[in-house]
Formats: sequence, C-alpha cells, structure tokens
Amino acid sequence: MQCQTVLPGTECTFWGKQGCVFSEGSCQVVVENCEGCERVIDGTIGRVCSSYPAPEKKWTSGICNFATHVKVEIKTEETKTNPLKASKKASGGGGKKK
Ligand code: SF4
Repeated sequence: MQCQTVLPGTECTFWGKQGCVFSEGSCQVVVENCEGCERVIDGTIGRVCSSYPAPEKKWTSGICNFATHVKVEIKTEETKTNPLKASKKASGGGGKKK
C-alpha cells in the first residue's frame, strides 16, 4: 500500500490498513554513514532511505549491503582464480574461423 506519512504516495510493504507497521510506526532518518548514498531521499521527517526503513540498523554489523557509495571488499580465493578462469575462457572461446 501507499505510505501516508513519511513518503506519501510511495508504495511500501510496511504500510497496511492500520498505518505503518514498522517498529515505532515510521521510517527512521538516515545516519552519518549514509552520507553520499544514492538511496537517500527526502521524506516528511527528514532524509530517509528508499531501500530500508531503519538505516542505523544497516550499519550495526558492518557496511550497509544496499549502500551505493561504499563497496564491501571481499578477498577470497575466488577473486584470485578469476583471472585464470578468464584466460581459460578466452583461449577456449577464441578463434571463430576454422
Ligand atoms: S542504502 Fe544503506 S547506506 Fe544507503 S541510505 Fe539506505 S541505509 Fe543508508
């Protein structure tokens, strides 16, 4: 249903017949870590997140996984083997003409 308070007219899964069913009955404003994120939008209570109603919670256990301005650096074995896979693909898939 459409939000009637923070973002009037915006489709939101938290809005029901009783109003906003999210904790405290409303979205919460963005936190300092959200600064620069493309998902920050202006609501009637201030700047809120278009993807998650409680931005502060997205940062409690690390970097927000919805953030557009920061990227999680994942260093795994897979990233190391990627160039190999790529070169294998390149040699196997090359040579269209026979
Ligand atoms: S996506 Fe994450 S970083 Fe961006 S505004 Fe929302 S909570 Fe903040």
